Amino acid sequence: MPPISDSRKRILVTGGAGFLGSHLIDRLLAQGHEVICADNLFSSTKRNIDHMHSNPRFEFMRHDVSFPLYVEVDEIYNLACPASPIHYQHDPIQTLKTSVHGAINMLGLAKRLKCKILQASTSEVYGDPTMHPQREEYWGNVNPIGPRACYDEGKRAAETLFFDYHRQAGVPIKVARIFNTYGPRMHRQDGRVVSNFIVQALLDQPITVYGDGAQTRSFCYVDDLIDGLLKLMASPADVTGPINIGNTREFTILELAKLVIEITGSRSQIVRKDLPRDDPHQRQPDISRARAQLGWEATTPLRDGLERTIAYFREILADELPIGGE
Ligand code: NAD
Ligand code: UDP
Ligand code: UDP
Repeated sequence: MPPISDSRKRILVTGGAGFLGSHLIDRLLAQGHEVICADNLFSSTKRNIDHMHSNPRFEFMRHDVSFPLYVEVDEIYNLACPASPIHYQHDPIQTLKTSVHGAINMLGLAKRLKCKILQASTSEVYGDPTMHPQREEYWGNVNPIGPRACYDEGKRAAETLFFDYHRQAGVPIKVARIFNTYGPRMHRQDGRVVSNFIVQALLDQPITVYGDGAQTRSFCYVDDLIDGLLKLMASPADVTGPINIGNTREFTILELAKLVIEITGSRSQIVRKDLPRDDPHQRQPDISRARAQLGWEATTPLRDGLERTIAYFREILADELPIGGE
């Protein structure tokens, strides 16, 4: 099928109703493309895509990517997969099926259509890393049978499938290893640290720091991340990745908690909870490859991104409060 025009494409986004997917679709629609969003709404709500339905170039399909999908498109972004530990550990077998069967089906689709396909992989492929910061050459340190394995190993197997379909069947692939990303439309109760801390702070509830809070993450604002994915999709054919997309500025979880309390002006106290099993001690991307091959780096400072995210959650929580409530 020829593209609709050189500049206007029909693009499939799996997981498009999720946090990252909905921001990606907003950008693709703004660029004038047609978008098919395939999502089973496992870890998201229609609220993220409500505003898109009036756009005639947008189409929603309730579909589980672990089953085959026959559509005609010019490009595929494969984002379907629960991303927070609470969601992906809720039904670990389904998480693996989504990553592995989902990758096979979407790669089969890309093979038939001879179209580019981008995989939302993750820094979790590095597990609890012994190399710091993490470069793409590092093979990782993942417990294959622990509670996080359904996600980490599922994403690793998906990467294997992407590179095998590329080598064996010539499928044009792009593999992004996404590091912790935050912003508006994160699921309010998905248990990720940024949404947890912000909601707790806004409700003046205890801020739950797991372990001693000395573990680190590097937080990327969603707009920066989407820029990186769009640049990767538009890159020359020999740029397949894997390529780290993330902010290089590293924070301890305790630093994050204090910053959220400061910005929100919350009365919340910090409380300690047990550190979950296999929780990575440190994480920071080496983005030399993204700089060299895509001319990309994250530019939004954590404080600015948190302010925008806090404004979003203030609105969400105000909507949820009973009439007459504070
Ligand atoms: P999210 O949970 O908000 O979005 C994932 C979407 O996929 C949801 O809308 C969910 O309903 C959908 N989905 C789940 N299983 C599906 C299935 N079997 N079929 C169809 N749809 C399905 O998470 P997110 O943060 O937007 O993550 C998007 C992608 O980016 C995921 O693949 C995730 O692994 C990857 N990623 C995200 C981060 C991050 O920090 N946000 C970091 C690394 C990788
Ligand atoms: N597939 C799909 N849509 C398509 C083409 C293929 O969902 O347009 C699925 C199909 O179910 C198949 C999988 O992708 O099981 C892998 O496709 P491939 O061509 O590699 O495998 P085969 O069909 O030879 O088993
Ligand atoms: N974390 C925390 N309190 C929370 C939620 C998470 O201290 O309420 C910690 C968690 O143990 C981890 C870090 O914050 O060390 C990031 O957790 P998240 O689930 O957001 O992402 P991931 O562990 O997948 O990087």
